[in-house]
Amino acid sequence: MTDKRDYYDVLGVERSATEKDLKNAFRRLARKYHPDRSDEQDAEEKFKEIQEAYAVLSDAQKRAHYDRFGHDNSAGNPFGGFSGGGFNINLEDLLGGDFFSGFFGGGRGRTRERRGSDILVRHSIDMATVFTGSEESIELDLPMECITCQGTGAKDGNTTTCGKCNGQGRVRVRQQIGPFVNEVIQDCRDCGATGSVIESPCSDCKGRGHRVENKTVRFSVPQGAEHGTRLRLRGQGQPAERGQGSNGDLLIEIEIVSHAWFERNGSDLIMSLPLGYPDLMLGTKVTIDHIDGKKLDIVIPPRSSAGHTLEIKKRGLPHMRRSGRGDVVVLLKLHVPEKISKADKKQLESMKSNFNPVDQMERILEDAADRRANE
Ligand SMILES: [Zn+2]
Ligand SMILES: [Zn+2]
Repeated sequence: MTDKRDYYDVLGVERSATEKDLKNAFRRLARKYHPDRSDEQDAEEKFKEIQEAYAVLSDAQKRAHYDRFGHDNSAGNPFGGFSGGGFNINLEDLLGGDFFSGFFGGGRGRTRERRGSDILVRHSIDMATVFTGSEESIELDLPMECITCQGTGAKDGNTTTCGKCNGQGRVRVRQQIGPFVNEVIQDCRDCGATGSVIESPCSDCKGRGHRVENKTVRFSVPQGAEHGTRLRLRGQGQPAERGQGSNGDLLIEIEIVSHAWFERNGSDLIMSLPLGYPDLMLGTKVTIDHIDGKKLDIVIPPRSSAGHTLEIKKRGLPHMRRSGRGDVVVLLKLHVPEKISKADKKQLESMKSNFNPVDQMERILEDAADRRANE
């Protein structure tokens, strides 16, 4: 099924390897096989294999899954396939700055793109809006770049180069790992990794570079939107630290207010309809207002049973990513009045012989068989 090598073999470690063992093995092999450095044949393949093995084994959840199921990802793997997707390994941090300074001209570390945080806002809509989709416009208090200091956080925009990192935003830190001392590059804490320090903070934003402002945000809710659907408005989130970098995103999570009588199942709408015994027996038509603005006719055929459902095709909600609509599913129920008059009681008594099952036990068995067949 798979000719992949065992991840532990790839890294040359025992199955009982600790996090530290894995890291050391990865460091050693990555240095050896990094395609930019290695003269080995198939270095790139080897490096990918090492990276994949490390990505899986260094993640406790993925490792546990791998220990149990090996490379078999076919069934019930809740983490998605191991291969294919990218692995989030910070090579620079793992291998240390020295490793990279060789081929990035040395000295100046690569500047990472800095980005503000994403902001999540919840927005409620009703079922009718799910049906039509809509252009929404809401007022939000959002952090915006401070105009006074243009997001720098500094009064008059004056900043000085951070002394600790010499303006690079990152510093080399010596780390003792077992018997080895490694150099790792980390964000500079003195300047919040921006490389500059503020001499006197902007009084309007207190040096933060952003301040909360009321803003009108417009977005469109797609037809058939589901509860929990998230809309991403790029660049409308938190500005980056001190204006250096791009804004985060604004995420709008759609909440759908419960409908008065419909439940929702995907694009189907489900409702229950209590009817009197004569209507179930003789059939009837019930007309109610519907979310599509038209009337919904529910035709109950004669001899309908309480507990059965009727489907009204293509009168449900629009499908979200394709054309067409779901159905309305009507669960028939028997309405039992609170009180009955003496006269009604008499009439019902007289009906018993015609309506009650002749052979009760036979009906019980028949009904049970029906129910099982429908399971
Ligand atoms: Zn300011
Ligand atoms: Zn600094």
